[in-house]
Amino acid sequence: MEYAENILGTIGNTPLVKINKLTEEVDALVLAKYETFNPGNSAKDRMAVKMIEDAEAAGLLKPGGTIIEGTSGNTGMGLALAAIVKGYKMVCVMSDKQSKEKMDILKAVGSEVIVCPTDVAPDDPNSYYSTSKRLSEETPNSWYVNQYDNLSNTKAHYESTGPEIWKQTDGRITHFVVGVGTGGTISGVGKYLKEQNPDIKVWGIDTYGSVFKKYHETGIFDEKEIYPYVTEGIGEDILPKNVNFDVIDGFMKVTDKDAAVYTQRLAKEEGMFLGNSAGAAIKGLLQLKEQFKKDDVVVVLFHDHGSRYVGKMFNDEWMRKMGYIE
Ligand code: PMP
Repeated sequence: MEYAENILGTIGNTPLVKINKLTEEVDALVLAKYETFNPGNSAKDRMAVKMIEDAEAAGLLKPGGTIIEGTSGNTGMGLALAAIVKGYKMVCVMSDKQSKEKMDILKAVGSEVIVCPTDVAPDDPNSYYSTSKRLSEETPNSWYVNQYDNLSNTKAHYESTGPEIWKQTDGRITHFVVGVGTGGTISGVGKYLKEQNPDIKVWGIDTYGSVFKKYHETGIFDEKEIYPYVTEGIGEDILPKNVNFDVIDGFMKVTDKDAAVYTQRLAKEEGMFLGNSAGAAIKGLLQLKEQFKKDDVVVVLFHDHGSRYVGKMFNDEWMRKMGYIE
């Protein structure tokens, strides 16, 4: 018999899938690391379990404890699944710009959800950073995950996602392209791949309204770069410890409109029903097409599933209201 001991045993070993029509104008072979095959439908399952296991080993998370995290949804989902299997309580603190689907999904897997305003500074007492921190101080036997600065996040991708991509491409990968939020994915995969072959180029996809690109290019944390944006899952107004700028060759910014339009195009032209950051990642890759030669193998990682965006990027009324389609 072949079976997993529990749902956590199905995390990882996601497929690589060739992108065909959308990348016709690109000379290289473009392959998607298709992370929605994880049980929580996103790449974040990998780091959620790793962060919990490392916290257990360090004695930070004890039996019957409460896990508290500020999350845009996917990390919360991974943490919630692991909390169920391992017997912890889960509290997710979210900002109000996140889709209702994401909140409902977290509640469906037994998580308590607390919603905070988006348009306040990170150090405002009502921000979701401050709220999660305060809750963890007030709740007995609790552990605050802090996916931004918790380096087990990067480690998960260094130990699983990176080696999988190297093996699946038979060591032929030349470029890795991925959206950047906490930085865990790009830093873990990027470090592993560059250790195997330092010539591999690693590109981060960023949003307008986020600090990463400017900081990478100038070393300046420019507050003028920070303003509200629509794209979900990527870009930040802080510099998380998980972003290892040393393994990143460059950032490309994608507009909210393009990210939304390409999220729809992936579904309609490739049959890839994916989240908003996948649209940003594929559009960013197309903006980088001059970087790729004929025999290159470009891997783009798609983080999460389209079901979480049916009220937004897959809703034409919403798309028209935003001015993204006619
Ligand atoms: N896409 C989505 C949908 C996400 O939820 C996240 C995590 N915030 C990312 C991309 C970025 O991944 P990372 O946090 O590893 O940089």
